[in-house]
Amino acid sequence: MTKVCLVLGAGAGIGGNVGKKFAREGYHAALCRRSDEEGLNKIVAEIEAEGGSASGHLVNAVKEGAIEDLIETVEADIGPIDVVLYNLGSQIGGRSLEDTTLKVFELGWQMATMGLFRVAKTLFPRMVERGGGTLLVTSATASVRGNAGQHSHAGSMGGRRMLCQTLNAEFASKGIHVAHILIDGAVDAPDTLGKMMGADAFRKLRETRGLDHDGLMLPEKMAETYFHVSQQHRSAWTHELDLRVVMLEEGMLKSSDRFNMAEGEAIIDLYRDAGLQSTKGEGIYVFQGQNVGGGTTINWCASFRTPTKTLRHWEENFGLKGCGEDDLAPFFEVAEKQLNIMKWPSPPNKNNEILKRGAEKLGFSWGVIPRNVDGCWDLGYCGQGCPVDAKKSMLVTTIPSALQRGGKLVYRVAVNALVREGDRVTGVEGFAYSQDGRQKGNRQCKTCGACRGGHSYTWHIAALKCARSIQTYWEAHVLAPGHQLLCSV
Ligand SMILES: Cc1cc2nc3c(=O)[nH]c(=O)nc-3n(C[C@H](O)[C@H](O)[C@H](O)COP(=O)(O)OP(=O)(O)OC[C@H]3O[C@@H](n4cnc5c(N)ncnc54)[C@H](O)[C@@H]3O)c2cc1C
Repeated sequence: MTKVCLVLGAGAGIGGNVGKKFAREGYHAALCRRSDEEGLNKIVAEIEAEGGSASGHLVNAVKEGAIEDLIETVEADIGPIDVVLYNLGSQIGGRSLEDTTLKVFELGWQMATMGLFRVAKTLFPRMVERGGGTLLVTSATASVRGNAGQHSHAGSMGGRRMLCQTLNAEFASKGIHVAHILIDGAVDAPDTLGKMMGADAFRKLRETRGLDHDGLMLPEKMAETYFHVSQQHRSAWTHELDLRVVMLEEGMLKSSDRFNMAEGEAIIDLYRDAGLQSTKGEGIYVFQGQNVGGGTTINWCASFRTPTKTLRHWEENFGLKGCGEDDLAPFFEVAEKQLNIMKWPSPPNKNNEILKRGAEKLGFSWGVIPRNVDGCWDLGYCGQGCPVDAKKSMLVTTIPSALQRGGKLVYRVAVNALVREGDRVTGVEGFAYSQDGRQKGNRQCKTCGACRGGHSYTWHIAALKCARSIQTYWEAHVLAPGHQLLCSV
């Protein structure tokens, strides 16, 4: 008997592509959406043209009895449903509290939570009787983080996530695999993002950030991940999956409240090999940062544009294209503004005054150093981490801003190797440190998985258990067991 995959919310993005993927793998794809019969027929026709089997169903899922009737019809006419993808979104755009009517709030809840509950209520008893089944649930950043204007969306998506956990707790032992798939990024989906942005803006976004630029999540690649999750062995079920950008850092996370200007402590905690890294011949020490923020946390703040001579050397000797002085000028301008780079305003101290006089006498050029600081106390302990957050290092600028936009940081994990498929990086191998900094030998792990154009990997929880993952610096937590992190590089 042909296996059946029911997709609720089969637009041209994730839903339609998951339907296509399952059809390619021999399932019948029962595709359901509320409107746009033409669009629905197009996906069905595309599947059939590839030799697959599919049917289209126009259903308004929030109508009373609609989900129940759909499940009944599909099971009676086509066959028992093995996999269901609940892909209904509940994003109604940013609306203030004043603009969010009770009706709008309730509609979000109907689509995000109540509809999912109705699927479970109708289908789970049948699946249990048949010995198992799979419920894949597409979700959003709003399921874990509220935001201004997101009353309906975040309120209802948070409920979706908790419902998935509850269903999983009750039904995993009965053979039903529930996976909450958190999509934390912009999806290349014409029916959702495309409509929200408008045709022109969406086309521009696709041209500049889509496809090989890896700035948009590609539904056909995400569909592979969905399929992979649906095929997992029961002993290795994933119950929650993050599709998002992640930063992996080998060093520790320390910030100004722990920068105490103690050199002995800082060199151990913030520098690679405790500051003893050296050249091959061991003749020269090479200082390098090893912490969240890297070298920028402990450097001396001198901030120059890369000299033209160096850029030319890179171009002529290493074939580096598009990195000439003019090419990079707009990027340097942005960075200089963001990091408050300006010439040191304090008068030179006695040492520098002597150097300046000497340089002038010898005919050497000299200048005041531009630095990336704001409100510097001139303490002279830059190399131990700035205790007053005057230094605009990545620790206090770009990394927190990436985290605020939904990026994820996992520190105390070291990457050993990149896993390649052809000319693409598809994973990483590495290990996690314990919090005291020692490597746990038994935590060696291999990573796998594929999404976002193949530029992605999965860290199994075994690897991340003793590493720490944080959303923002003030909201640290350790990943929950069963939480699988799928991330792009
Ligand atoms: C003491 C000191 C003073 C300096 N002063 C100046 C200055 O005044 N002006 C200036 O322009 N430059 C200065 N520099 C140099 C500058 O800070 C670095 O060139 C710059 O930070 C390099 O940036 P990066 O992103 O390439 O690498 P890094 O800042 O070194 O970041 C790389 C990060 O990756 C992590 N990492 C490495 N390997 C792994 C792995 N296998 N798995 C996981 N994570 C890994 C490291 O722990 C590190 O945090 C200074 C450097 C030092 C050490």
